[in-house]
Amino acid sequence: MASEPDQIGLIMQLRRRGIRDTRVLRAIERVPRELFVDPAFADHAYQDIALPIDCGQTISQPYVVAFMTEKLELNDSQKVLEIGTGSGYQAAVLSHLCRHVFTVERWRELQKAAGRRFAKLGIANITTIIGDGWIGWPPQAPYDRIIVTAAAAEPPLALIDQLKPGGRMIIPLGSTRDTQSLVEIDKTETGEIVKKPLLPVRFVPLLHGRVKPDERA
Ligand code: SAH
Repeated sequence: MASEPDQIGLIMQLRRRGIRDTRVLRAIERVPRELFVDPAFADHAYQDIALPIDCGQTISQPYVVAFMTEKLELNDSQKVLEIGTGSGYQAAVLSHLCRHVFTVERWRELQKAAGRRFAKLGIANITTIIGDGWIGWPPQAPYDRIIVTAAAAEPPLALIDQLKPGGRMIIPLGSTRDTQSLVEIDKTETGEIVKKPLLPVRFVPLLHGRVKPDERA
């Protein structure tokens, strides 16, 4: 009888697909993805697929979470800014690999639900913020690393400004869903910006502005 893949099955699949960093694999192993998906999809939580979450958004495919995390090359001393909290899954993975994660989301429902998951898991080094990712989160800038989990045509200038010299941002860029590419943006010690495309991806759009009172997903 075929059974649904579990956490170990997922880790094996990520290794097969080329994720080699054992610290990243261990961080993923520590985060129970079933707590981050809609209970209706709990049976699919450990499949390597994106799934719908509230407010018309999605929790990313584990391979993409692992790939982006690996490319960030994190260490325990770093301060990370995430744009697009969504379910909070990516932030939870990051929290095991860096000093502190600041994560910005435009939907209050999603921010609150993510905060409850972090509390339940005893994760104390994530700060959730309601705001507009296009302006980043100036109070804690600059950041060693920035990860954007929604796609923009161009990288937000505020985020480039809030990146430390020597820092790195990973962001999906592309004006339509079919033409997105995950891009690594490095800021050199002298402030020069170097971009490198990494992988074709499909993310929900990075929208402008906070959620309007009458906005529906
Ligand atoms: N990282 C998430 C997946 C994110 S889906 C996870 O692990 O589950 C992208 C998220 O970006 C959505 O929740 C969407 O509401 C949010 N988003 C889109 N535009 C935004 C903006 N301008 N500011 C903040 N969040 C934004």
